[in-house]
Amino acid sequence: MNSRSQSFFVYFLLLVAIGAMLYVGFRDTTGTVEPLTISKVAQQVQNSRVSRIVVEGNDVIRVVSPDGTEAESRKEADTTLVDQLRGFGVTTEQLAKVEVEVSAPSAWGGVLSGALYLLPILFMGGLLWFIFRQAQGSNNAAMSFGKSRARMFSGEHPTVTFADVAGAEESKQELAEVVEFLKEPQKFIQLGARIPKGVLLVGPPGTGKTLLAKAVSGEAGVPFFSISGSEFVEMFVGVGASRVRDLFEQAKRHSPCIIFVDEIDAVGRQRGAGLGGSHDEREQTLNQMLVEMDGFDTDTNVIIIAATNRPDILDPALMRPGRFDRRVTLDRPDVKGREAILKVHAKGKPLDPQADLATIARGTPGFAGADLENLVNEAAILSARRNKKSIGQPELEEAIERVVMGPERKSRLISDEEKRIIAYHEAGHAIVANAIAEADPVQKVTIVGRGQAGGVTWFRPDEDRILMSRKKMLATLAMALGGRAAEELIFDDITSGASNDIEQVTRMARAMVTRLGMSVELGTMTYGQKEEMIFLGREISEQRDYSEAVAEQIDREVRKIVEDAYKNAKALVKKYRKQLDLVATKLLEVESLNREEFEKLVPSPLGKKSGTPQVA
Ligand code: ADP
Ligand code: MG
Ligand code: ZN
Repeated sequence: MNSRSQSFFVYFLLLVAIGAMLYVGFRDTTGTVEPLTISKVAQQVQNSRVSRIVVEGNDVIRVVSPDGTEAESRKEADTTLVDQLRGFGVTTEQLAKVEVEVSAPSAWGGVLSGALYLLPILFMGGLLWFIFRQAQGSNNAAMSFGKSRARMFSGEHPTVTFADVAGAEESKQELAEVVEFLKEPQKFIQLGARIPKGVLLVGPPGTGKTLLAKAVSGEAGVPFFSISGSEFVEMFVGVGASRVRDLFEQAKRHSPCIIFVDEIDAVGRQRGAGLGGSHDEREQTLNQMLVEMDGFDTDTNVIIIAATNRPDILDPALMRPGRFDRRVTLDRPDVKGREAILKVHAKGKPLDPQADLATIARGTPGFAGADLENLVNEAAILSARRNKKSIGQPELEEAIERVVMGPERKSRLISDEEKRIIAYHEAGHAIVANAIAEADPVQKVTIVGRGQAGGVTWFRPDEDRILMSRKKMLATLAMALGGRAAEELIFDDITSGASNDIEQVTRMARAMVTRLGMSVELGTMTYGQKEEMIFLGREISEQRDYSEAVAEQIDREVRKIVEDAYKNAKALVKKYRKQLDLVATKLLEVESLNREEFEKLVPSPLGKKSGTPQVA
């Protein structure tokens, strides 16, 4: 606002205020309006001194006496006039003598008189606003309409540190660098290092994403601004984007600091992906967030940490360099992790010396950190109810049940039988990979579930590969089917747990035949044209440009490739049955094995990589 329009504004306010005062004064001196209490109205009705009552709008009523004089009163907005009068003992007969009329208030009259009452207040407000603007310049925090609801936790008295986050060593290591940067930004800037702007925390609910973000701020001793993605979405149109702007403004003023966006999937869904139009508000909010992140200078020293349990639905734009280009994954804890978490939450609570947290950890496969916290709490409640002085083993055991049954449960408990199947399934993948020269070495095997999958076996490609040989692909197929092969061998039955493996295998085998020309029978040709929706960057459909006969041939070829791979996998798990048992048993005990542990347990029968190819 320039100074000319500012002074005009002040004069305008003054004029309006004078007018309002005159009007109010005039009303007071005429004395025609004399507000009554509702009990007085009831009394007058009982004494037959009321002939008519006009209800205007929600709560204003006009009471007309037989001689025509009018008085104003108010009723409670949420009950009817009749009910209210009855409440004061007015009978039906007495009410019958009164004519009750409901009139919509004349629009202009209502607005005008309302506005006139409001004017002095508006004037004061306007004046205050003016003074504040003068005093603090344009980006002040005095007026906070439409400001972000971000809660600010000061980092000066950190309440959470890395010590409070147990069983997440890898994630903490990855975030240590962020902490260092927040502590001493100059050190990094001097060397011209590009500082991470955004870190995406990914993991199932209750695995400590929020906790870890707070711990980063606690460790670094910087302020922490937190807002949840779903809060943005609830807002009125246009407000979400302005909240984002305010949040970043606020953060920049407090830098170095952390902005934490919880549940970012609520705003960060792929844009334009919804059928039947998209959610404009959400998109605007997301766009604003991207704009703000891109607008950060290298010396802004604000790091944005976002959390989600649905990284798959996030807009790819969020993942571009300079945005959330770091990803830290939090998994459900394994036995050791669970014990560590239990210890964290038992600290400061009187734990019976006989209580054995390791046993409790073993009895809670599938529990996330939040479940374990809940467990300790339930045990404490139980112990208190039993008038115990400390938390004992029986209470802890009982608390497991309660958490499993309870509504707050973030994950499910895996049964022993299920655990055994998962252990053999994962061991199957690992053993097959171990026995094929072309397969990538095993990086980690775990039976701690992630998402829908029962367990995971990770492989580490030896080098950054851009080309995949046919042998390598066949090895990958066999390895992917190793899980099911082991299930069939050990349990003589198969489960739904391999659905993801099978999907992957089918896709790869099909690609080998139709896209990569790797089938002898069908030759070096591509079949079918891919149709992609360019702006979504996703494949939508495939157009067939081959005959029915060829389609059958393709299906036959694909099936043959998959069947051969499965045969191979089955032969290998049978051949290395001892190793399979060894790995599965160990997994049941410790739940996860890293590369060294795995290799120590089952040295590759090939000496790996030096051996002869097992798969043709
Ligand atoms: P998320 O944000 O991933 O859903 P939270 O950070 O809100 O999970 O975790 C909820 C609670 O569970 C935390 O406040 C903490 O008490 C407990 N918790 C979760 N993970 C851990 C952990 N690794 N170590 C200690 N406590 C944890
Ligand atoms: Mg959370
Ligand atoms: Zn599998």
